Amino acid sequence: MAEGNRETFGLRVGLPSHGAPAKGGPKSKYCARVKISQTSAGPPSLTISDLSRFPPRFPPLSSVSRFPLPGKELVSGESALYLGRSYQIEVVDDGTRDIRFTKRFVIPSSRATERKGAMREWYIARAEEIILRRVHRHARELGVQFSKAKIVDNRYRWGSCTIQDNVNLNWRLIKAPMFVIDYVIVHELAHLIESNHTPEFWNVVRTQAPKMEKAKLWLKENGQILEEDV
Ligand SMILES: [Zn+2]
Repeated sequence: MAEGNRETFGLRVGLPSHGAPAKGGPKSKYCARVKISQTSAGPPSLTISDLSRFPPRFPPLSSVSRFPLPGKELVSGESALYLGRSYQIEVVDDGTRDIRFTKRFVIPSSRATERKGAMREWYIARAEEIILRRVHRHARELGVQFSKAKIVDNRYRWGSCTIQDNVNLNWRLIKAPMFVIDYVIVHELAHLIESNHTPEFWNVVRTQAPKMEKAKLWLKENGQILEEDV
């Protein structure tokens, strides 16, 4: 291992938590990278040094076909998640371009054909507003300082922190309940205090995110739903 090869913590999609530094991870001050490798047979395997901590109870990503395949465009009557709740979509033909949300999603018909893009843009804007505000609040309460917090598009990781003390959070978290968002934020920020998943680390997380266990379970059971486009 190269000198100074320190690693990145990343909270992986499909795992309730992640573990110790993995070989070949990105150079980073704090973090362990958990890689997933899929083969056509069997569940994905983790290339991580303490795999024993995480028995492979999660389903392989390839088994997510229990969700119906989306149609070509959004139609009224479909629903979409936001902060852990499902809201109806209504497609309207009113000549506007902006998606509105008033206890339901009102989507201009001109955007309905974009399907992925239309909702995604809306989700990312909300994530940048709501999740980043939460990051600042939790950092203040934990007494930690990060360099930058960013909403990112990462299909396989909920959150991570980098060698520069940047905190990255997956925009898809905006579909999850707030206690789940809080847990992921706090998990990553807690790595600014303790780089490993020690009992002390979990104590910090639990103190700041009291619903930690519930959040881990929620991610385990529902994480794949967040991967759906709508
Ligand atoms: Zn971690």
